[in-house]
Amino acid sequence: MVSTDAPSQPQRRTPARKKKTRGEGQWALGYREPLNGNEQSKKDDNPLNVRRRIENIYAHGGFDSIDPADLRGRFRWMGLYTQRAPGIPGARTGTIQPEELDDSYFMLRIRVDGGALTTEQLRVIGEISQTYARDTADITNRQNIQLHWVRIEDMPTIWQKLESVGLYTTEACGDCPRVVLGSPVAGIAADEVVDATPAISEIAERYIGDESLSNLPRKFKTAISGSPRQDVVHEANDVSFIGAEHPEHGPGFDLWVGGGLSTNPKLAVRLGTWVPLAEVPEVWNAVVQIFRDYGYRRLRNRARMKFLVADWGAEKFREVLENEYLGRTLTDGPAPPVHEGPRDHVGVNEQNDGNYYVGVTAVAGRVSGSTLMEVAKAAERVGSQRIRTTVEQNLLVLDVPGSEVENLITDLDTLDLRARPSSWRRSVMSCTGIEFCKLAIVETKERAADLVEDLEKRLADVQADVENPVTVNLNGCPNACARTQVSDIGLKGQLVPDANGNQVEGFQVHLGGGLGNDAGFGRKIRGHKVTSAELGDYVERLVRRYLDQRTAGERFPQ
Ligand code: SF4
Repeated sequence: MVSTDAPSQPQRRTPARKKKTRGEGQWALGYREPLNGNEQSKKDDNPLNVRRRIENIYAHGGFDSIDPADLRGRFRWMGLYTQRAPGIPGARTGTIQPEELDDSYFMLRIRVDGGALTTEQLRVIGEISQTYARDTADITNRQNIQLHWVRIEDMPTIWQKLESVGLYTTEACGDCPRVVLGSPVAGIAADEVVDATPAISEIAERYIGDESLSNLPRKFKTAISGSPRQDVVHEANDVSFIGAEHPEHGPGFDLWVGGGLSTNPKLAVRLGTWVPLAEVPEVWNAVVQIFRDYGYRRLRNRARMKFLVADWGAEKFREVLENEYLGRTLTDGPAPPVHEGPRDHVGVNEQNDGNYYVGVTAVAGRVSGSTLMEVAKAAERVGSQRIRTTVEQNLLVLDVPGSEVENLITDLDTLDLRARPSSWRRSVMSCTGIEFCKLAIVETKERAADLVEDLEKRLADVQADVENPVTVNLNGCPNACARTQVSDIGLKGQLVPDANGNQVEGFQVHLGGGLGNDAGFGRKIRGHKVTSAELGDYVERLVRRYLDQRTAGERFPQ
């Protein structure tokens, strides 16, 4: 983690073009004046400076002492969002202002780069959760851990405890480089192309908290995996490095840019380059700088890198990367073979050193501080000190001796963390939803847990027939934090009419999305809206129809 006191300088090699061709607010084209409130706030003060104000002022003065520009803007750079006040209705009617939904408590996102945690770190998160966050904890589908009910008064102590074990919340949210996704089996998988751990560590140490990258047009998402299982959703990140074997140069990475979901989803595109492990941080830094300099800043809803990549295309993006930022040509490289089948690591798998890793499901990522502490204890009981989080909101325990695997599975089972789950326990995912998220229209976490139990009963007779889990992703609003568009059954929260014509919580359905070989967005089917109460019925009907009508080997319908 770099110091915020000593900003490194931008490394752009050619002067910015001054010609103002399009009013998108691109710095490189001379648009340096802020064109909206968010840009103005970032210009007024580097958001990283808010940490000092939290420690020196707000932690003493309490919630009411917080400057609104910090509260609703810069706090995010420290992983803090105000959470939704309980009891405020979910429907966004246009009459509720965001500040009316503010609670005086916060959601705190702890970044877990590469999903890599020690049992000691897990225990510290658990203790913080118990003491300062009402024992809440969610594993996110970006491998972070989120706590709720956090008070501003407690933040200095929480940071001190986290940092004592090498954990941070810096740039866990905000218009900056967010957590770096990584393969949870990096360094231990027998089939690994390359271990990306050194690149992830270097990026986190050199660039997170670097002022020169702390004012991006919007959030910037990274994924790096050397696993042939391509286990970091590289299709939906701003930049991804995916393990690839070059016929002459050996193991390295295939570079992708411009993926993102939300309301204008786009799949990432390959640049056709092969990047060796040692060069990943440099190339990553150059890609982030392109986004900083050329990204669209005028409108927030066009400020993600996917819009720039869609307008430029892969060829131009690579040209700018090589000519203006790297000052050299990148090596051409072949596309890696696309992984078929589930990408998660649920179950028991042998490591390259003869030990085993055990992957367990946490339904919709919801756990608790107490559960995390018990996981740490169970792992240490069998001699492990390494835990991993996954992009499916699950947990892995690494380094388990073969003789201890069943003992660990039994221990984790009592925590409702299953190594041999039903299809539904494995394939249902959800975002935060209305319980805590101010943008939510509907409830998701409890709904997901209820749905899993419901489907386990309803579809018990066909459990063995569903070879590949049918993914069901619940989202509380159109923002698609739980990847609405790339799941078999994508559910986008909205109000829908019930049988009596009343507006109730429900979902617009997107069907047949997928990743990997089947990468594509689900179709939003006209009229396919389901109330939350009817969700179990609806999914059961879809799955039974699929099982009845599928041809040999056919996966869930595209
Ligand atoms: Fe909140 Fe919407 Fe994201 Fe869910 S999808 S966490 S409701 S913003």
